[in-house]
Amino acid sequence: MQTIIARSLLNLKKNLNNLKKNQKVGLVPTMGCIHNGHLELIKKCKKLKYFTVVTIFVNPAQFNNQNDLKKYPTQEKKDLEILKKNNVDLVFFPKVKQIYPLGYSTYIKEINFSDILCGKYRKNHFGGVLTIVLKLFLIVQPYAAFFGEKDFQQLFLIKKMVKDLNLGVKVIGIPTVRDANGLALSSRNKLLSAKGLDIAKKIYLNIKKIRYLNYKYTKAIELYLKKELKKSGLNNIEYIEIRESNSLKRSKSIIKGKTLRVFVAVYVDDVRLIDNYKLN
Ligand code: AMP
Repeated sequence: MQTIIARSLLNLKKNLNNLKKNQKVGLVPTMGCIHNGHLELIKKCKKLKYFTVVTIFVNPAQFNNQNDLKKYPTQEKKDLEILKKNNVDLVFFPKVKQIYPLGYSTYIKEINFSDILCGKYRKNHFGGVLTIVLKLFLIVQPYAAFFGEKDFQQLFLIKKMVKDLNLGVKVIGIPTVRDANGLALSSRNKLLSAKGLDIAKKIYLNIKKIRYLNYKYTKAIELYLKKELKKSGLNNIEYIEIRESNSLKRSKSIIKGKTLRVFVAVYVDDVRLIDNYKLN
């Protein structure tokens, strides 16, 4: 089957309306610059035999920094080639004015988990994320949607929104895809210099060391990781926090039976990189 490219809402709707009644739609929202992390989400969607819709949209509403938005890498032609090669059924490639027409003023706000971790440093970021995801859910009407654990807080908030708003979309989380050195794949890695890439590789190598620590208190682990990251040349650390996976609540100590996760955000070459890792 050929990959359908829809650039307008009308064209997208027309193609979705043509689907058989019992055909389930799987949605994979992305901001493009497709890499193997994205492809893992797509593979899972295809494996489940859903009609696979990939969206490529660099969502201005989730950027609190205009320079960051301007710098965000894009590669439209290459993305389409990759998506066609991977037998994606439909690619939706909307323009900003289609999604946010002149006078647009409705945004989603989640009030308990949006101002911690990344949200503490990126004001209104998750409001922008939830707004675009809700809009895509309403436009595409998927049976299931796929998101990466690399953006763990995002995945958590999307699951929360689906539950809170009774959206009835099955949200499927996919484990983080890493390169041979363990660096979490990200479109932003493209912005790193060769030296920056070398330093970025140290993020995961150091995070993994935590597994061998026998510390009781999470604060001690956070301090240890901070010291190790700095020793590796990662001097610009935004946050290192250990939280419970299921609730994103802080935990003072390592508790048996509770899954904890370490969350890290660092800047390398002025590029913001995030990662997270399950501790026990
Ligand atoms: P993005 O284009 O960065 O907005 O990412 C689109 C989707 O792909 C999101 O659900 C991300 O969490 C997911 N994703 C990005 N990088 C990875 C990765 N390395 N492993 C797994 N999923 C990823």
